[in-house]
Amino acid sequence: MESLLEKHWYHMPAEEVADLLDTDPEKGLDQFESERRLKNFGPNVISGKKQATALQRLLLQFHQPLVYILIVAGIITAALGEWVDSSVILAVVLVNALVGFFQESKAVKALNSLAASMHVEATVIRAGETLRLDAADIVPGDIIILRSGDKVPADVRIVRGKELRVDESTLTGESVPVEKNGTPADHDAVLADRTSMAFAGTLVSYGQGYGIVVATGNKTEIGRISGMIDAAEELDTPLTRKITRFSHILLVAILALAGASFALGMMRAQPVTETFMAAVALAVGAIPEGLPAAVTIILALGVSRMAEKKAIIRKLPAVETLGGTTVICSDKTGTLTENQMTVQEIHSGDSFYDVTGTGYSSQGELASREAGSMPVTENTALRECLRAGMLCNDAVIRHSDDQYTVEGDPTEAALLVSALKYGLSRKDENANAPRKDELPFESEMQYMVTLHREDDRNVAYMKGAAEKIFDYCSKVMNADGTLSDIDRKHMVAIQHELASKGLRVLALARKELPDGKELGHEDVAEGMILLGVQGMIDPPREEAKRAVGTCLRAGIRVKMITGDHAVTAEAIGMMLGLGGDGCTLGRDCPVLTGKEIGEMTDRQLRERVQGVPVFARVSPEQKLRLVMALQSHGEVCAMTGDGVNDAPALKQADIGIAMGISGTEAAKEAADMVLTDDNFSTIEAAVEEGRGVFANLVKFIAWTLPTNAGEGLVILTAILFGATLPILPLQILWINMTTAGCLGMMLAFEPKEPGIMERTPRRPDRPILDKVILSRIALVSVLLLIAAFGLFKWELLGGASVEKARTMAVNVFVAVEAFYLFNSRSFRSSPFTLGFMSNPWVPAGFGIMAVLQLLYTYAPFMQNIFQSAPLDFLDWLKIIGCGIIAFLLVEADKKRVESDI
Ligand code: ADP
Ligand code: MG
Repeated sequence: MESLLEKHWYHMPAEEVADLLDTDPEKGLDQFESERRLKNFGPNVISGKKQATALQRLLLQFHQPLVYILIVAGIITAALGEWVDSSVILAVVLVNALVGFFQESKAVKALNSLAASMHVEATVIRAGETLRLDAADIVPGDIIILRSGDKVPADVRIVRGKELRVDESTLTGESVPVEKNGTPADHDAVLADRTSMAFAGTLVSYGQGYGIVVATGNKTEIGRISGMIDAAEELDTPLTRKITRFSHILLVAILALAGASFALGMMRAQPVTETFMAAVALAVGAIPEGLPAAVTIILALGVSRMAEKKAIIRKLPAVETLGGTTVICSDKTGTLTENQMTVQEIHSGDSFYDVTGTGYSSQGELASREAGSMPVTENTALRECLRAGMLCNDAVIRHSDDQYTVEGDPTEAALLVSALKYGLSRKDENANAPRKDELPFESEMQYMVTLHREDDRNVAYMKGAAEKIFDYCSKVMNADGTLSDIDRKHMVAIQHELASKGLRVLALARKELPDGKELGHEDVAEGMILLGVQGMIDPPREEAKRAVGTCLRAGIRVKMITGDHAVTAEAIGMMLGLGGDGCTLGRDCPVLTGKEIGEMTDRQLRERVQGVPVFARVSPEQKLRLVMALQSHGEVCAMTGDGVNDAPALKQADIGIAMGISGTEAAKEAADMVLTDDNFSTIEAAVEEGRGVFANLVKFIAWTLPTNAGEGLVILTAILFGATLPILPLQILWINMTTAGCLGMMLAFEPKEPGIMERTPRRPDRPILDKVILSRIALVSVLLLIAAFGLFKWELLGGASVEKARTMAVNVFVAVEAFYLFNSRSFRSSPFTLGFMSNPWVPAGFGIMAVLQLLYTYAPFMQNIFQSAPLDFLDWLKIIGCGIIAFLLVEADKKRVESDI
């Protein structure tokens, strides 16, 4: 069988393909055979993707400027005969690489597990049943159904395509979708011309079809050229790139400064070893090498925290953009509402009917609303209206232990339920009128049609957006089954009445078609017979209401963008409390419809867009215009989408958000973030998380930079005044490595500050380090300089040894940083208000650091390595005193200036 996979499937007739692969195009494989093949051919995954191996990643850790400096310093110190220094420096290089390696592995793992949780699903026919399967379980011979928005899960020989168009740009680079059908392609057709094939990894952009899987996994075309699948995420973002650039510039500057200071020392004829060590100390101390890595870790931690909240980040930069979101454009159905559709009112045969019962249980009844109207059972139009809703329907409702689950569109499930409540049986109806053809629902068209063979006639049943259907109807069916001319105004008034209660209104219609014709959109564009309308409720989600409120308080505008009718949308919008900017929906701020948008120029749209909270009957293309109009005002725009045509808008948006449950693969692929629960409140939670991550980043940077600046200042001052170095290069390495790990990283676990959603969004063009933060960094750096140099000199003047004086300097450095860590937890509140245990990592890190410093000071082996010396009680009092003074000064500085982070 293996050899069969090399065949030229694209130019064989479909029947031959089915024969060769021993499968049935109608029923598919049976369970046993598919399991056997899965064992035989292996899972449908591409394994050729080259990920950096662990060893490669470890080696890459040495590819860093600081490491180069250290290695050179290590070699030179060895040449100078300073064996201890040399071996410690090289040991530090090793430890540094290991720490970097483990941190990065953690980040990569977090992101990879997210990629894995985003598996692709496919629709497969097996043993005559239509199933949704994980694409990995697909085997050659499976029959696959393809619909617009699907990602083609394997190489498929199309048996039948109905306006099936596939975007093959991932494979051929061709961006115009290619029409696919069952006709065999030429023997010598190149990949791009094999119109009888749909290839793995490409996207169905229109229409539908089905076909036979001929190759899976690495045997697919894309699998063969593999390695180009971008599954795993890059670890950089605009922010980390900015920071890397910043630290590279700093690196060059500091190296120049170190070189200059070495030259200065030589000119003053100072001892070579000492001068060289001073230059090395300056370089290692002042370069914030760990910064880019730390920022990546903080972002990666944010990603996993968001995943716990059901928001999966597909592109790492989104984590930092999220916090700055100023406007969220959200779908209505399913995101702001429950997507639990229940038909409540029906108008048919010129009478109103109320439907009782909730959810998808078929318990409930139809009852005439007014006395004197046609009884339910005698209304022929009503029966036809319900039948149409049942026949023109792809939803399946499953019932197990009192739970009803819907497979397919909830709108259709609701229509199914109303027909069941009336007493129709789906099995009987489908047997009497088997389906022959269909035009599936597409958001642009807003309707769906199916063609049935009943009593030797071809009847098309249609359902969709009411006003659209009314336009296609010339007649309306009366209660007694007779037809009259349609009174469109009257029908629109009825639609309006239902919609103003927040009901989604679908109209149903039918038409007889001549024999032997394939169903096309032109067949149903006129002469339809209106059967009635059904109004279904889809209540707003409670948590969405709360989340909308939170967003408005946080200065984030919420806009509802829906394909639904303006009146329905407005009613739901009011229940959700949309509006803001001092305008109340339904009173002074209007709903804009797709039709109106279509008539506006980009300029006019730009003027209106900000003040409108609800957009109705919007087509996916218009979403793109809306995003661009909002962005032209400098808004940071999050936009949701689920359909294949939403992809351009999702790409354009600053944060494209796809629906995990109802979304197509095309939308997910284009998105920055995927909501696994399709819920608006998840977007709000992600924005909140994003703000928290960004705040923690800034807090970390503001905490870490003074260490480098302080060390640089201390060494520079010593060099300029020709004084003895208060801290040696090795000691600087010790400080940098221990404080970053034990103290700084604890800020990554800092919980969100209480008022974080009460502040206005951060402008995207604002520099990360504003005046407040820069002045804070300067303050602490100078404090470090004074404390370290001061204590060092004091000791020397008091007659202490250089070793002891240096031990004082190192300890005071660590102490000030440790106390400053408590300050750094917030730019506005003191740790007393925050509560010391609200981030238990900080006191824990403080404790570990204290133990390490005691070891550093008293353990003989440490004294050997770092030339440290024991201190007495009074010395510790001085050191801790400095820490406390620095802490109090920074707290006072917080009172002086207000930060908005
Ligand atoms: P929404 O933004 O509310 O999800 P859609 O684009 O899904 O809007 O739907 C737009 C309109 O198309 C709906 O208001 C409804 O009238 C109609 N519609 C929705 N689903 C279907 C369907 N499965 N079949 C026919 N018409 C539908
Ligand atoms: Mg929808």
